[in-house]
Amino acid sequence: MKVYHGKAVFHGIAIGQIQILKKEEKNVFRSHIDNVEQEITRMERAVSETEEQLKKLYDKALLEVGESGAAIFEVHQMMLQDQDYQESILNIIRTQQVNAEYAVAVTADNFANMFAMMDDAYMKERAADVKDISERLISVLSQEDKEEVQTDMPTIIVAEDLSPSETVQMDKSKVRSFVTRYGSSNSHTAILARTMNVPALIGLAYDEDIDGMTAVVDGFKGELIVDPDPEVLAEYEKKAAQEEEKRQLLQELKGKETVTLGGKEIRLYANIGGISDLQSVMQNDAAGIGLFRSEFLYLEKEDYPTEDEQFKVYRSVAETMAGKKVIIRTLDIGADKQIDYFKLEREDNPAMGYRAIRICLTRIDIFKTQLRALYRASAYGNIGIMFPMIISVREVKRIKEIVEEVKKELTDNGIAYGEVELGIMIETPAAVMISRQLAEEVDFFSIGTNDLTQYTLAIDRQNAKLDDFYDAHHPAILNMIQMVIENGHKGGAWVGICGELGADLELTDQFIEMGIDELSVSPSCILPIRKKIREHV
Ligand code: PEP
Ligand code: MG
Repeated sequence: MKVYHGKAVFHGIAIGQIQILKKEEKNVFRSHIDNVEQEITRMERAVSETEEQLKKLYDKALLEVGESGAAIFEVHQMMLQDQDYQESILNIIRTQQVNAEYAVAVTADNFANMFAMMDDAYMKERAADVKDISERLISVLSQEDKEEVQTDMPTIIVAEDLSPSETVQMDKSKVRSFVTRYGSSNSHTAILARTMNVPALIGLAYDEDIDGMTAVVDGFKGELIVDPDPEVLAEYEKKAAQEEEKRQLLQELKGKETVTLGGKEIRLYANIGGISDLQSVMQNDAAGIGLFRSEFLYLEKEDYPTEDEQFKVYRSVAETMAGKKVIIRTLDIGADKQIDYFKLEREDNPAMGYRAIRICLTRIDIFKTQLRALYRASAYGNIGIMFPMIISVREVKRIKEIVEEVKKELTDNGIAYGEVELGIMIETPAAVMISRQLAEEVDFFSIGTNDLTQYTLAIDRQNAKLDDFYDAHHPAILNMIQMVIENGHKGGAWVGICGELGADLELTDQFIEMGIDELSVSPSCILPIRKKIREHV
């Protein structure tokens, strides 16, 4: 028996056979070619075929892990079509008279190095993506099929890191856990594990000879126990059965109220990235949607989504939720979410840069298009709108003026709209400090603890190196939440939390005592939190 230690990014117990995913070491040879034009045609065909593959992967991911998980394959399609990337490959073929495989491999190395050297954490991560698409392109050129990872036994996938294509190609019915040597809490592995509801460990320095061995993943302690002693295995089998029993018990909470023993009702809503997440919202019995990250609508497109395109999506969500609250956050791009067609300039400090409401308040046409779509959809359900990254009362007053203009335009054109609650996200320390004044302006606050923690602790939320400094329960954050709730209530606004901290079961009791009205969390966290709330004395 050998025990390895890593960091758990999703809890649970898994027992299975280890399967190490080895990156296929592709030896790409450099060979001289005589007919350059023929090689270029071969290359262009391979690009089309690769694009087809990526489209299929997107569709598969959409069904399996939803819109936010699938979005990466759209990024890959865009990277594949990138003019600089393609020109580099074609130039190498032409000038060096070499085979396409070699030209792709050299370009991949150059681009990956370039990305890796960038300061921006988001851009650094693109190094892995450019390698991923280049490997796919080389496989297509060499006529190799990237096979699905097939397994017949419960499996613990162990890898250096997992690329989105690898994760989508897995036969997930057998996968019980993911363990990787690299990756951060925000990596694809962590997101996938949360969506699949299986334990995952990162930062675990494993040995290659564990391949094929039976092992236990303890996603509470962050341990991988290889070849466990019989009594240890028996103990974990018992624990796994208890976990399963707990899961089944949670199912019984469906349809029950989210009320404390003292009779206080907490609204338990879900966070979504798009329509495909609605299935999970229904399965987990959310009372509404507390955060629809509308930027995914923009991220999926190659050009600005039109008012009608947006209207259809918002209407469909409102109708599916059938009168339950649906809070849609207006466009929050910039920082970690970049979109080419917005043509945003590169910035040294994107997290503190031109993003979210700052874009909307300067590019009013984009903002008004979204607001019109939202107000039109409000005739079909119970829509609320909230605005991200607010730092001043002036911004909120300006937003409300624009909203009034939009409503007037709709009225003048005889277009119906419903009652819409307006709220703001509290995700900057500035908004916390002026929350008393802000509360006079809006119907509700939703605390975005992801960004609020980043700006308060001065810790880049994307930087895996800072995990050890990151204290999600820092008193500064908890005091701020308390202050926002009090100020919100004094000014007549209800207050919720939609950042990841809202799903932290260790804090549920404290949030209730602070007077929180709503928690909006990933769909899979709804039932465990309902249980906790119902037990609160
Ligand atoms: C937050 O910042 O807490 C939040 C919910 O928004 P996002 O994670 O999309 O930035
Ligand atoms: Mg945020």
